[in-house]
Amino acid sequence: MTPTRTAALPDLHPPDPASRLRQAGLRATAPRLTVIQALQELDSDFLGADEIFRRISRSGSRIGIGAVYRVLADLESAGLLERSWDPERRARFRLVPPDGPGMLASLVCRRCGKRIPLNNDAIAEPLSRLATENGLSIANEHIEIIVACHSCRKEVKET
Ligand SMILES: [Zn+2]
Repeated sequence: MTPTRTAALPDLHPPDPASRLRQAGLRATAPRLTVIQALQELDSDFLGADEIFRRISRSGSRIGIGAVYRVLADLESAGLLERSWDPERRARFRLVPPDGPGMLASLVCRRCGKRIPLNNDAIAEPLSRLATENGLSIANEHIEIIVACHSCRKEVKET
């Protein structure tokens, strides 16, 4: 059977959280399932640990913030999460798509190192299409665009 290429289309039937955990070699415990489900609902958005905690508490979970951190560490080391940083340099996470890690693109200030994650899907799709059309596959999934942020530009002007 020839595998059908559906890479550019959203996966309408993502694997269930329990089988994703087992595939990654983790036991499907209740806290892990709850955190994965919370991340899955948001699809491609990055979430911080406190946001995940608030979301699952709202939906009636009794899992504490400490357990959320432990689960995130487990999932990340099993390769199920991608990490990004918000402008205050707090870690944010999202699920790695079932067909492999996505592309992480961010704007990085060359002076102060401030990093602003970009809407990766808007960038990843045309880039990987361009690569495929030329018979290439993208090996470097972390793309940094070097910028001068607003406050650093101001400092340069004033000095
Ligand atoms: Zn800066």
